[in-house]
Amino acid sequence: MIIVLKPNSSKEEIANLVDRIKEKSLKPVVFEGDERTVIHVLGNVTDDIVNSFSGKCIEKVMRILKPFKLASREHHEETTVVKVGNVEIGNENVVMIAGPCSVESEEQIMAAAEMLKKLNIKIMRASAFKPRTSPYDFQGLGIKGLKLLKKVREKTGLMVETEVMDVRDVPIAAEYVDMLRVGARNMQNYDLLKEFGKIKKPVILKRGMSATINECIMAAEYILYHGNKDVILCERGIRTFEASAYRNTLDVGAIAVLKSMTHLPVIADPSHAAGNRELIPALSKAAVAAGADGLLIEAHPNPEKALSDAAQSLYPEQLAKLMDELRPLCEAIGRKLG
Ligand code: PEP
Ligand code: MN
Repeated sequence: MIIVLKPNSSKEEIANLVDRIKEKSLKPVVFEGDERTVIHVLGNVTDDIVNSFSGKCIEKVMRILKPFKLASREHHEETTVVKVGNVEIGNENVVMIAGPCSVESEEQIMAAAEMLKKLNIKIMRASAFKPRTSPYDFQGLGIKGLKLLKKVREKTGLMVETEVMDVRDVPIAAEYVDMLRVGARNMQNYDLLKEFGKIKKPVILKRGMSATINECIMAAEYILYHGNKDVILCERGIRTFEASAYRNTLDVGAIAVLKSMTHLPVIADPSHAAGNRELIPALSKAAVAAGADGLLIEAHPNPEKALSDAAQSLYPEQLAKLMDELRPLCEAIGRKLG
């Protein structure tokens, strides 16, 4: 249920209302807008409860029938702008987040940072913890990788982003990096989602490869419900019957649908959808045309030497060319590549 207050309601009136909500064992979440305050009431809201809320300061009471409340656009008309340092995601910018699949060594990650700096890219992606299909493959540098990412920020001013797979690593990683990521394989790891809700850093939530749109939004709802409002959704391709031409099908429709159903920024990861660097430009452009607020792209200073996802990692020249191609496309739809 949403309670919309009349403009100029006093702090005392709002506090009284919050107490009344709590007395009914419901959870109030207060949003103070420029013009008016809106209170979201979470929990088992019955018709009797809805009808019991009226009063001098209340403009209207609305029942939200969707299973997701906090993520829904009904709840929050304006697209949320998530700030990563001084970079804003969710406004007119289309934000490029790029970097290698994994942090591999100091030399590699510093070379990657240089590649991004030259292109004026502000946020680096690189995983310190790796979800690998095979236990024999490179598993990531763990905490050492987080330390290297922090060093990248200190030396270059880039914002750094990384995946976390284990509940215990969430608060640790939040100390080292500027933005955390829930990988596709963990989209429905609810204990992990709750932990992401407790941190004060923005979170990229990737859609699971077999997750429906509703399941994806409900996963975001977990993070929002547990206290973190800075959630960015990421379409990264869904399981496909195609056997070899690409790894997953980038669900371009999902980008548009998620943007209309939720107020959260939506980005796309064409790299894990494609699995093949030659497809990245086409998929990136399709994602931007569909309304993506940003792109998450794998690029490596020396892809032949990459320890994970080598085939889909762009060469530095390819990343530069992609930026050049995306700029006029962004402008044509009234946006700016940032
Ligand atoms: C990644 O971004 O490094 C990754 C592992 O992607 P996904 O979780 O989408 O497979
Ligand atoms: Mn990867």
